[in-house]
Amino acid sequence: MPAAGLLDDLAGIVGGAHVLTDPAITAGYLTDWTGRWTGDALAVVRPGNTAEVAGVVRRCAESGVAICPQGGNTGLVGGSVPPVGMPAVVLSTARLDWIDDVDVPGRAVGAGAGVPLARLERRVHAAGLAFGVDLAARDSATVGGMVATNAGGIHVVRYGSMRAQVLGIEAVLASGEVLRRWRPLRKDNVGYDLPGLLTGSEGTLAVITGVLVRLVPQLRRTASAIAAVDHPAAALRVLTAIEEAGLVVCAAELMIRRGMDLLAEHGHRRPFADPPPYLLLVTVEAAGADLAAALEAAGVADAVLEEGSAAQLWAVREAHTEIIARASTTPVVKLDVSVPLPALGDLIDAVDPLAAEFGARHIPFGHLADGNLHVNLLDVDPARADELTDRVLRAVAGLGGSISAEHGVGRAKVPWLDLSRSLADLAAMRAVKSALDPRGTLNPGVLGMASVTPPGRGL
Ligand SMILES: Cc1cc2nc3c(=O)[nH]c(=O)nc-3n(C[C@H](O)[C@H](O)[C@H](O)COP(=O)(O)OP(=O)(O)OC[C@H]3O[C@@H](n4cnc5c(N)ncnc54)[C@H](O)[C@@H]3O)c2cc1C
Repeated sequence: MPAAGLLDDLAGIVGGAHVLTDPAITAGYLTDWTGRWTGDALAVVRPGNTAEVAGVVRRCAESGVAICPQGGNTGLVGGSVPPVGMPAVVLSTARLDWIDDVDVPGRAVGAGAGVPLARLERRVHAAGLAFGVDLAARDSATVGGMVATNAGGIHVVRYGSMRAQVLGIEAVLASGEVLRRWRPLRKDNVGYDLPGLLTGSEGTLAVITGVLVRLVPQLRRTASAIAAVDHPAAALRVLTAIEEAGLVVCAAELMIRRGMDLLAEHGHRRPFADPPPYLLLVTVEAAGADLAAALEAAGVADAVLEEGSAAQLWAVREAHTEIIARASTTPVVKLDVSVPLPALGDLIDAVDPLAAEFGARHIPFGHLADGNLHVNLLDVDPARADELTDRVLRAVAGLGGSISAEHGVGRAKVPWLDLSRSLADLAAMRAVKSALDPRGTLNPGVLGMASVTPPGRGL
């Protein structure tokens, strides 16, 4: 077995029990959440601390073996699984699961890269504070993976995306060196923002082992509503009216009648007996009566309102991803894109006929306030998925949008990078990559970055 020497050495670093090779066990690490991407790996390696991560990175680099860092494997663009046809290991961060004591006066907490978001949220909440990023995959998505993808989620309108939460970072570079910036400073302008650079780098520049994040006050009083609207532009007008009424918007999501119909087919209760063309789900930090008054003043004819966590209203929105995946006869073509706010309706209008042309169902939803639409295309013939993707992403670019709003590029969107980045931009990104990972060991292929160079030493 050619990899035996390497695997023995890795077992020497992390312990034999944490070098997984049994296909029945590794299968779950090799296919991504969408089911569209499957890779090959010599093993799944699960280091338990930063020194072990550094040892694994060094040993793999010596052998020219690629490393695919993996957190919760909830990524939606194929970046969390290794490439096909190249010696690679999956480096799972599952055992980097420590959480420091919450620094309440400093409003910060440090956590290992493998900590799932929901665990971090519970810990921080118990200390009387909150974390500014939240998303439906919270039980599995890890803090490290969220930094690596610069995750967005439902509260970007209030607190910004993951990049805005990162105060410090610990990461193992491709050389095996450990980069650590770990001070809870709100302002620190000494040179390049390396934590910011690693945020959104999708495992191509370093393996993130720990993150120091800022915390925010808990929301004391919230109210949510699902409001019936006839167009995305109307949803934006309602949002503006809510803000003009002096209410602080914490989340604003857009859903569509076709999504409601699909949810109902899968046993979910509809918020309205007769769903309107579009639905705005909004959460504000205010009393329910104030939200009701703002909606009325905005001319909303029909709305369902809930105070507090509004679990029932949010369940409608959060059920979308899973039910869409279940309902499609083929792996869903999921395109997370953004456009300027006034173009949201135009985008939906542009994609609907494309979906019809390809015999697909289009069920979009998204983060309205961020101009971020999740275009979900169901029942697409896999042989035509790239062709449809191409048509949709060109429509997005034509509207002045971005081919990736918050999920990243991964492997899925590499062919379309030039729709959102100029040649000079791409060249600068490659220069950064070759400075930090000259042999291309880290996540080759992701973000269109080059593959591992021939090994200097055999396996
Ligand atoms: C139901 C559902 C809802 C979602 N909602 C949202 C949403 O609202 N907003 C949003 O932004 N995303 C959303 N996502 C996508 C996904 O949850 C995020 O991209 C998340 O940040 C991925 O975290 P992860 O730990 O699962 O990373 P993985 O899927 O394991 O990895 C994602 C990428 O990060 C890299 N990576 C992971 N860990 C590390 C590390 N420690 N060091 C270096 N690189 C690493 C991987 O190599 C890969 O390129 C959703 C996904 C699902 C399934």
